Amino acid sequence: MLNHPRTGQPFDSPVRPGTGWPGDPATPATPPAADAAHVVQLADQSESIPELDALISVCRACPRLVSWREEVAVAKRKSFADQPYWGRPVPGWGSPTPRIVIVGLAPAANGANRTGRMFTGDRSGDQLYAALHRAGLVNQPTSIDAADGLDTSTIRIIAPVRCAPPGNAPTTAERNTCAPWLDAEWQLLAPHVRVMVALGGFAWQVALRLAAERVPKPKPKFGHRAVAELGPGLRLIGCYHPSQQNMFTGRLTPAMLDDVFADAARHAGLAD
Ligand code: SF4
Repeated sequence: MLNHPRTGQPFDSPVRPGTGWPGDPATPATPPAADAAHVVQLADQSESIPELDALISVCRACPRLVSWREEVAVAKRKSFADQPYWGRPVPGWGSPTPRIVIVGLAPAANGANRTGRMFTGDRSGDQLYAALHRAGLVNQPTSIDAADGLDTSTIRIIAPVRCAPPGNAPTTAERNTCAPWLDAEWQLLAPHVRVMVALGGFAWQVALRLAAERVPKPKPKFGHRAVAELGPGLRLIGCYHPSQQNMFTGRLTPAMLDDVFADAARHAGLAD
C-alpha cells in the first residue's frame, strides 16, 4: 500500500471500491459490469448521476482495458512511483446539473488513471482547468489530485471511453461497449445543458451522436470554434484537444481555449 499524496491515507493500486479514496462514488457492494450486455442493463437502470458514477467506476466489461489500466496502476511512471494509482474507470466530473458539458476522449494512463478524476494530473488537464478558471467555470486554476478542492456548479466533463487505453487508442468494440454509460449520463444531463464543447473531431462526432435527433443536415463539420445549433437551446462548439502535442506546437494556444470557453459561458448565460 502507498499513501495518497494529499490525504496520506494508504491505498492499494488499483484502489478497492469504497475504501476512502477522495471522490470515490462506489461502495464495496457496487456491482461491476462483467460484459457489454451487463453494461447495457446497469446503465439502463441508473436513475441518478451518483448511481451511474458508482457503476461506471467499477466496470470490468473490456478485458484488454481492465488489464492495461491495472498494469499501469501497478507498474507506475517513475515520477509517481511513491503514489497509489486509482487504476479504475474514471466517471464524469462536475455538476450533476451542468449548463456546459465538455466532451473529452479517454483517461490518460498516468493522469486520470492515477488520480481518479477527469483530466487531473496531466499536462492536458493543466491547460484545460486553467482556461476553465479564467472563464469563471471552476473555482481554481489547478487540478492536481482528487482531494485538491477543485469544484464547479456549472460544468461537467464526460468521455466516451472511461478506461485508459493502450496507446490512447480504444478499439471500436471497446468504444461500443462503453457507449451505454455515456448515453445514460447524457439522458440525465441533457435537460440542463445549453452548450456542449467537443475537444477534438472524435468528441465532436460523439456529441452529434448524443444529440442525434436534433442534428441538422448536412451534418456540421468539426473545426476550432465551429458552432452547430442543435435545435433551440443547445449549441455545440468545437475546440482542438488541449493535448501536449497541440499545445506544444501552438496549434492550440491558451488564448484559443479562452475564446471557446468565453463563447460557451456567454451562450450558457454564465458570463458577467
Ligand atoms: S472502457 Fe467503459 S465499458 Fe470498457 S471496462 Fe472501461 S468503463 Fe467499462
